[in-house]
Amino acid sequence: MAKRDYYEVLGVDKSANKDEIKKAYRKLAVKYHPDRNPGNKEAEDKFKEATEAYEVLSDEKKRPLYDQYGFAGVDGMGADGGGAQYSHAYQDFSDLFGNFAGGGFDDLFSNLFGGRGGSRHSRDPNAAGQGESLRYDMRISFKDAVYGAKTDIHFSHNETCEVCHGTGGAAGAKRKTCPTCNGSGQIRRAAGFFAVQQTCPTCHGEGTIIDNPCSACHGTGMQEKSKRMTITIPAGVDNGKRIVIPHQGNAGVNGGEAGDLVIVLHVDTDKYFERSGTDLYCAVPISLSQAVLGANITIKNLEGKSIEIKIPSETTQGKLLRIRGEGVPITI
Ligand SMILES: [Zn+2]
Ligand SMILES: [Zn+2]
Repeated sequence: MAKRDYYEVLGVDKSANKDEIKKAYRKLAVKYHPDRNPGNKEAEDKFKEATEAYEVLSDEKKRPLYDQYGFAGVDGMGADGGGAQYSHAYQDFSDLFGNFAGGGFDDLFSNLFGGRGGSRHSRDPNAAGQGESLRYDMRISFKDAVYGAKTDIHFSHNETCEVCHGTGGAAGAKRKTCPTCNGSGQIRRAAGFFAVQQTCPTCHGEGTIIDNPCSACHGTGMQEKSKRMTITIPAGVDNGKRIVIPHQGNAGVNGGEAGDLVIVLHVDTDKYFERSGTDLYCAVPISLSQAVLGANITIKNLEGKSIEIKIPSETTQGKLLRIRGEGVPITI
C-alpha cells in the first residue's frame, strides 16, 4: 500500500500548529487503538499510521525535513532513536490506555513522547545497554552527489568515561537505595484526578544511586568527545540517502555496544544541471542561425570536461539531445 501524506493521515492543514496536530492524533488514537478494536487489523494499521505521522509532525526537527524532502527526509528515523521510541511508546500506550481512557491524556502524552519517561519498571543498573545512534545531517554539492567524494565530518558523541570506566562512581564508591523512590525506580505524581506513574528523576529508573559520583563525568559514566572522521560518499547518491558508520554513536552502558552514526545527505541544487534518476539535464542556449542551420558546439559536462555536440539543422526550442554515458554513474 502506498504511504499516505502525514498531514492527510492526521487530517490537518500543512500550517497546523502543535496543538492541532496533537488533537488530531489523539482523536485517531482513541478511535483506532488496538485495545478498543481487538483483532481488527485495519484499525491497528490506522493506529500505526497515525502514530508514525504524529511522531514526525510533532517533532521540531523531523517536521521541516518531512516538509522539504517528504518521506525520504525522515524515512527510518529509527536512526536517531525515533523508531525505537515509537515501538516503545506503542507498547506503553497499550499498557497505560486502560488506566487513562477518558482523561489525563496530556500527561500521558507528555510521558510517552518525552524521552526518558518510557521505562515502566525499575531498570537493572548492571544490565548492558546499547548506546544511542546519532543522526548527522550533511549538505553536499550536486557534483559530489553525482561523482562521489571524500569529506571530513566533525561530530561529538558520548564515550565511556576514562576515569571511572563507565561505572559513574569515584574510587570506592557504592550504590545505595535511591531516597526519592525508595528503590522502586518509579514515583507517583498527582495529575488532576489521576495519579501518574513516572520514572524517578533522581535515579532514572535504576532504583539505586551512587553515593560518591565520579567527578569527571558527574556520575553519568559518559564523557562527550568531539571527533573528526573522513567519510566516503559513494557516486550516484541522492537526497535523503543515509550512510551508516557503525559504532560511532553514543557508547553503550556496562559493556553494551555503541550505537551507530547515521549520516543523512542533503544534496544542493546546481546552477546548470538538474537530475532525474540517473539522467542529468542542462539547458544550452543557441543562436537562431545555429538552430536553423545546425552547428557543432562545445559544452561542459558537470565535471567541467568539454564535450562537442552536434546541433542538427531545423532544431526547435526545447529539443532534447542525448549524450550517452554523461549522466550519473550507476552504483549498486
Ligand atoms: Zn566517570
Ligand atoms: Zn529513584
